[in-house]
Amino acid sequence: MEKSFDERFKAFDQNYFEITEKIARAAERSGRRPEDITLLAATKTVPVEVINHAVSKGLKHLGENRVQEFLDKYDRLDKDGCDLQFIGQLQTNKVKYLVGKVSCIQSVDSVKLAGEISRLCARDGLTMDVLVEVNIGREENKGGVAPERLVEFIDEIRVLPGLHVSGLMAIPPICGDKKILCRYFAGMEKYYVDIRGKSMDNVDMVCLSMGMSSDFPEAIECGATMVRVGSSLFGARP
Ligand SMILES: *Cc1c(COP(=O)(O)O)cnc(C)c1O
Repeated sequence: MEKSFDERFKAFDQNYFEITEKIARAAERSGRRPEDITLLAATKTVPVEVINHAVSKGLKHLGENRVQEFLDKYDRLDKDGCDLQFIGQLQTNKVKYLVGKVSCIQSVDSVKLAGEISRLCARDGLTMDVLVEVNIGREENKGGVAPERLVEFIDEIRVLPGLHVSGLMAIPPICGDKKILCRYFAGMEKYYVDIRGKSMDNVDMVCLSMGMSSDFPEAIECGATMVRVGSSLFGARP
């Protein structure tokens, strides 16, 4: 049987408490403060009622990864004081639905996509924060810029008006071996630090978004500043 909203609210409260604790401990292990790490809730398939409950408990950063679902929920969402971001693969022709509604698009991996974000934001006098998605595992059929092209790619998009490059995002290959996973995370942190060292105009490496339900503590230990957590907060997806 499906869980009632009441059961889902209770489960969320417990999960939120535990995840906040785990984030704090991982932050301390990596020599940082708990508040240096941003928890972004990945809300795909989660009903608006449950999301609004989460917001009432203090969750501030929400990420959707399908445009249609984002729009379906948008009007009913308690958005006051919330930061909405887009974390999924994005088709160029759908950027128009996000401009003015999200603070950041985390999945920029083509000049064409960056160009459309720029065009629409510049037209409306807005600036969109973007993260460049990196295909850290060099997987075929996966989004993200190849690591060896990363600097060149950022150099190409950073000059676009209406767009501000504020960090990197990655979804490493599915992998049971935490050591291998940490190698991917550490690789991301190295790119992040290297690019910051280049002090490029309109590029501020302030967000390194990596780590999900199964591996967010490891990601934080390797330098993540933002983790995107879904099922551990809201329960398994249908
Ligand atoms: C669903 C999703 C997550 C969260 O995944 P969980 O394993 O449920 O925590 C993180 N990032 C992206 C891009 C997602 O689509």
